[in-house]
Amino acid sequence: MKEASFWEAICNESVVCNLCSHHCQIRKDRVGICGVRRNLDGKLYSLNYGKLVSSNLDPIEKTSVSLSARQPQLFHRRDGM
Ligand code: SF4
Repeated sequence: MKEASFWEAICNESVVCNLCSHHCQIRKDRVGICGVRRNLDGKLYSLNYGKLVSSNLDPIEKTSVSLSARQPQLFHRRDGM
């Protein structure tokens, strides 16, 4: 868990998050509307910092040869060519 950016402390250990247009006022031990920013003892923490949100196995070259019959082309190149 990492201390969040873009927030400010207000009264009674509450904070205001300014990361998005909701500008949530978050009381101690509560989370904002997004559910991923929590006020712990008057400081705002990001609960998902550094966590993977998506992964996908994807080849670099998907279509290396043009499928056009008139102008067949190779799209991959070596450096310097
Ligand atoms: S929704 Fe989340 S990111 Fe947006 S202001 Fe509220 S706590 Fe911050």
